[in-house]
Amino acid sequence: MVKRFTVAIDGPAAAGKGTISRAVAAHFGFAHLDTGLLYRAVGALGGDPIAAARGLRPEDLRRDDLRSAEAGQAASRVAAIPEVRAALVAFQQTFARREGGAVLDGRDIGTVICPDAEVKLYVTASDEVRAERRWQELRAGGAATSFAEVLEDLRARDARDRDRAAAPLKPADDAVLLDTTELTIESAVKKACEAIERQMGQGRG
Ligand code: C5P
Repeated sequence: MVKRFTVAIDGPAAAGKGTISRAVAAHFGFAHLDTGLLYRAVGALGGDPIAAARGLRPEDLRRDDLRSAEAGQAASRVAAIPEVRAALVAFQQTFARREGGAVLDGRDIGTVICPDAEVKLYVTASDEVRAERRWQELRAGGAATSFAEVLEDLRARDARDRDRAAAPLKPADDAVLLDTTELTIESAVKKACEAIERQMGQGRG
């Protein structure tokens, strides 16, 4: 078993980060942290977001209303507040360096949280393909929403994430770019695993 090995997976909403992260974690036996959940929970708690971030508890991450489009928008609003981000850094960095390896997915993992991660992936896909995937997901969950609404929601959230001053969404200089527009889940996961194996082979694990 590897001692410490961090895989940072960043990218815009619905690019496939979550699916790839879970599959990669299962493949290598690494722990996985979906860091978007931290911001979603802070947004969903309401009240003062800085106090919410500082007092965040494990049970707050288990609320069942965190996956909605509204929770995503609320998350991206609180995520622009530097003090909210600062309150969540230590937890993420401790998770990243745990023994046995860790995969973290989010927006700033390779750039800010884990600049020394052994592997950095930046996962993207066209706006339309991402919106289509998210729309299917929301419909399967029973949400009544249109493709146009989902596309607009996704573009608004990406713009907010890219344009903010604090830890904006962007690829790290040394990230491997993975465009999943034309890839099946299986081939995207395979490419991610190959990038990790290349790095492990170079003895950085
Ligand atoms: O990944 P997910 O869509 O759940 O993230 C929700 C929101 O949380 C993002 O739109 C972004 O504003 C914020 N986020 C962030 N940094 C991260 C993870 C998520 O700013 N590392």
